[in-house]
Amino acid sequence: MERYSRQMLVKYIGEEGQRKLGEARVLMVGCGGLGTNISNILVRAGIGFIRIIDKDLVELSNLQRQGLFDERDAEGRIPKAEAARRRLIEVNSEVRVEAVVEELDSGNIGRYIKDIDIIMDGTDNFATRFLINQTAVENNIPWIHGGVSSTNGVVMNIIPGESACLKCLYPHFPQKEDTSRSEPIGVMGTLTSIIGSLQANEAIKYLTGNRKYMIKGMLYIDLWDNTYERIEVKRRDDCGCCSANR
Ligand SMILES: [Zn+2]
Repeated sequence: MERYSRQMLVKYIGEEGQRKLGEARVLMVGCGGLGTNISNILVRAGIGFIRIIDKDLVELSNLQRQGLFDERDAEGRIPKAEAARRRLIEVNSEVRVEAVVEELDSGNIGRYIKDIDIIMDGTDNFATRFLINQTAVENNIPWIHGGVSSTNGVVMNIIPGESACLKCLYPHFPQKEDTSRSEPIGVMGTLTSIIGSLQANEAIKYLTGNRKYMIKGMLYIDLWDNTYERIEVKRRDDCGCCSANR
């Protein structure tokens, strides 16, 4: 436990919180700008198990913001999930890290969430986010939504039975034409680091029994015009996903 000594000195964590982290099982969906930052923090913080799912290979253009990878990974066209696993077990050999080189879809999500305490959103598309949302709500598993674009990003905690879900926020989304993966967008490495850190922080609060401190609604940040705003998101009685009346 010595490696966590400074973290355990934080009054909200302590030995009890550290023990809970050590028992926690996390699913990291996507290992790009957000996923690398989130998994790096959670593994260093001492979570028990992390399953990282991503089908893409490391490219040179990833290195600007994806801190677990290096030039050798890009030259070797190493799958991101596997490159992340290799790096993370060097960082903390006490954590069990599982790499899955696949795309999360409706056919495999049941298998990958069934032993999981919390799902982390490191995806880059809304089709996958709505799949996570639906499955998480059905199985009563919390998930931490994060999104980045250019200089702005969002974080939202979705706790089934308590908070609004993604479908409450975007009831008419996704439309068919909106579900396809879009062209690459610009994104600052500072932004993925900040949003990923906030998502990891929310997960640590949840997993250590600090739920009352979690962000309510959606946090919106723009790093260029210096906006830091919390937006209320209400549960919808007619939500097609999480409402009891659906
Ligand atoms: Zn809902």
